[in-house]
Amino acid sequence: AASTFEGERRVLLAAPRGYCAGVDRAVVAVEKALERYGPPVYVRKEIVHNRHVVDTLTEKGVIFVEEADEVPEEALLVFSAHGVSPQVKQTAADRNLQTIDATCPLVTKVHREAVRFAKDDREILLIGHDGHEEVEGTYGEAPEATTVVNNPEEARTVEVQNPDQLVWLSQTTLSVDETMEIVQILRERFPNLQDPPSDDICYATSNRQAAIKKISPESDLVIVVGSANSSNSVRLKEVALEHGAARAERVDFANQIDEAWFEDARTIGVTSGASVPEVLVDEVLRLLADYGYGEAAEVVTAEEDIVFSLPKEIRKALQDAG
Ligand code: SF4
Repeated sequence: AASTFEGERRVLLAAPRGYCAGVDRAVVAVEKALERYGPPVYVRKEIVHNRHVVDTLTEKGVIFVEEADEVPEEALLVFSAHGVSPQVKQTAADRNLQTIDATCPLVTKVHREAVRFAKDDREILLIGHDGHEEVEGTYGEAPEATTVVNNPEEARTVEVQNPDQLVWLSQTTLSVDETMEIVQILRERFPNLQDPPSDDICYATSNRQAAIKKISPESDLVIVVGSANSSNSVRLKEVALEHGAARAERVDFANQIDEAWFEDARTIGVTSGASVPEVLVDEVLRLLADYGYGEAAEVVTAEEDIVFSLPKEIRKALQDAG
């Protein structure tokens, strides 16, 4: 890996990065369920969108399923951090499943908003990506009242029934900038569009985007650690490119890094999505060090101290066990 850049190569490490409070809570909930009840513990969908996390839990005896009707009657089923629609809860109840709801409290907040607005006869424009589990869950709270808006193009063409009773909500892991652009387009078309009571894009998503924005202009290459189905990780790569990174790549693991990317790269920015354990970032940093990128300088744009208590079903089980 000899290069004319030897000695000048550096790494800027974004902070905050990696695990958010909602992901930490969901993963710990599954681990505690395994300890308390023993395998198999069923989880509907990936508990969080990270390959490594899912593989590690699978080795420990978690069985991931697509739907609640695949789970044997009366077994234990955990709902993932992305949330579920009332219909999924009903399926679980019909099968007498014991459930643990690991939905992030910040996703639950958006569900509550959807329910309340629908009850108040509002029409909801849900900004988010069709097919993402979180959007399916939120949509399912008020399907008759909700239309999903995927992108600025759809914001220009979406049809509504009652423009004066309109409110927008969003998925928690979108690009802050693109969401504001979509809202602006909607507001031009529907001036009485109402805002949600508070931002739906969560603190972790916006903090990670702000951190990578700061580093990107100086970066010849930005490496985002995160899985392809992780919405907030994919957004981090887009944000890096929009904010001056010459190149950005997303990888699940350090071994997916291609040394050809290092050509002409003096400064490498590194970040990770909200579902990414820090060990995976450590592996990337070790690999970069092997290529002569010196000790990583952390660039801190915010401090995070949010912690969520575990799902109530787990708290209760742990209490009962003494
Ligand atoms: Fe919750 Fe945000 Fe983390 Fe999603 S990214 S689990 S909404 S804190």
